[in-house]
Amino acid sequence: MIYKKSLHIFGVTGSIGQSAADVIAAHPGQFSVHTVTAHKNAAALAESAKRLNAKRAVITDESFYDELKRALSGSGIECAAGQGALVEAATQPADLSLMAIVGFAGLRPLWAALEHSRIVAIANKEPLVAAGPLVMARAAAFGTQILPVDSEHNAIFQLLDPAQQRAVKRIVLTASGGPFREWSLEQMRTATPAQALKHPTWVMGPKISIDSATMMNKALEVIEAHVLYALPPAQIEVLIHPQSLVHGMVEYDDGSVLCQMGASDMRTPIAYALGWPERIASPGQKLDFSALSKLEFLKPDLNCFPALSLAYRALEQGLSACVALNAANEIMVDEFLQNRCGFLDIAEKSARIIEECPAVSLSTLDDVEALDGEVRARLKHDIIKYNTQKAGQI
Ligand code: NAD
Ligand code: MG
Repeated sequence: MIYKKSLHIFGVTGSIGQSAADVIAAHPGQFSVHTVTAHKNAAALAESAKRLNAKRAVITDESFYDELKRALSGSGIECAAGQGALVEAATQPADLSLMAIVGFAGLRPLWAALEHSRIVAIANKEPLVAAGPLVMARAAAFGTQILPVDSEHNAIFQLLDPAQQRAVKRIVLTASGGPFREWSLEQMRTATPAQALKHPTWVMGPKISIDSATMMNKALEVIEAHVLYALPPAQIEVLIHPQSLVHGMVEYDDGSVLCQMGASDMRTPIAYALGWPERIASPGQKLDFSALSKLEFLKPDLNCFPALSLAYRALEQGLSACVALNAANEIMVDEFLQNRCGFLDIAEKSARIIEECPAVSLSTLDDVEALDGEVRARLKHDIIKYNTQKAGQI
């Protein structure tokens, strides 16, 4: 009998989760899916659980538990609900856990998976931003292999020769520039959620789409790269590459620059992570060199995209500032998507929050969660106060 790799997929209903489901479905008999999870979409969760022949489906929002049970009745797939069930799923041994939840909400299951899975493939970048040193120390303590799924970090993983780490001059993370690459600040001031959600090259969930429009996504990715590859911030550069075909580069001291290329399709880095250390076929789009007319690389405009410089500021300040930056951004993206603030407020408020954030020692997961909670509460309080004052002026 061929050995099947056992998997959990956290956040199976999302953009990454569905791309992973495509890769798994393209390799029948090679993977055995144990648990799949989602937050609220019970119908989509049930459908993915059936498609992947999973053993268990977990919905974190308990109000959708009955719907999930109804959708899976007679299928033989077990159901569970709630935050506890999510974390408990990550304590079940597996060859690989794919972390594809969006936001800081993925930190607790990641923490558990680092102890109980042999390999943890991470798409969910926010926990790496907010708790990077703790996550890396835990992976080292349990001998768990972390595989980056984020396309740029996956590229660097493929290019970086650990034996040559000291000869690395710099790494380059590419950025598409998002839908507002050619907009002025004045135009961006009145940008709507619908405009910001329209990404030119990637199809992704709403939070990362807004992050791409502000370029906060690249800021989070600079911190993510610093965490994953232990490189000083000055050796991590960002270049705008509108075609999104070169995902990352490593320049060595001898002048050699290695690049990783591929179509703008997350099924490639996902297939890399699911197959590792082997390479397996991806059902995604492939790069067609004959259709390429040009590859451009441009310096980012930090005046128009101030969010990008916040990564370097936060890394200089320390872990508390990284926690604060991530929390502030999550709150502000949500406010923007609900039409409760302007597009430029996202970076402006995030900058103010890290400026005001005191450096506190964060040595445990509880410390990180406490600071994250404090930042969110303070920012929400400020927003309510501001809105009340504004309403009073009308
Ligand atoms: P998405 O919004 O499409 O999906 C998010 C998934 O997380 C869904 O399954 C949802 O049910 C689940 N979820 C949402 N809130 C939750 C909560 N509070 N508790 C538990 N589960 C919750 O997001 P996405 O675009 O697939 O992105 C997922 C992660 O991968 C993000 O961190 C993103 O930055 C990263 N990423 C995404 C892409 C991409 O192409 N989409 C590329 C690189 C990195
Ligand atoms: Mg990326």
